[in-house]
Amino acid sequence: MKPILSDDLTQAATAPPTDALPGALPLTDLDHALIAAANDTLARHYRTFWHTVAAAIRSKDGRIWTGIHIGTTVGRLAVCAEAVAFGRAVLEGDGTIETAVAVRHPKPEEVDRELAVVSPCGACREMIMDHAPVAGIILMAPTGLVKLPIRTLLPVPYRR
Ligand SMILES: [Zn+2]
Repeated sequence: MKPILSDDLTQAATAPPTDALPGALPLTDLDHALIAAANDTLARHYRTFWHTVAAAIRSKDGRIWTGIHIGTTVGRLAVCAEAVAFGRAVLEGDGTIETAVAVRHPKPEEVDRELAVVSPCGACREMIMDHAPVAGIILMAPTGLVKLPIRTLLPVPYRR
């Protein structure tokens, strides 16, 4: 067996991202509409620090549920936009997640002022995996926007 040299590790860490992500799907018109719903929510409700990320979930019945991030002074108590959107899907809809997306607002000091698709944080990956293990997640890959199965983003979820 070939020994692992520190040069090998350095090379791996600095290797350019691969062009294609396994399992990545191109976006449909419905997916673009989902991103638009998240962008619209963020544009209407953005508040520096308090509401900086919005999410949109499309349930299996086709309905869209939006949510907004809730910032808190005690940082770890903040609630992600995906959780707020999913709560609405449970309370007002069929409680399913077919596809989800989150978008972030630029920070005040950032030059680029565009809203941008962001991948879900680790906690949201766990939440989505718990409730919708076949959901698709829209995110920005090196090649552009793609949709990936949640299982791809969290191959080994937490189990207790
Ligand atoms: Zn999150």
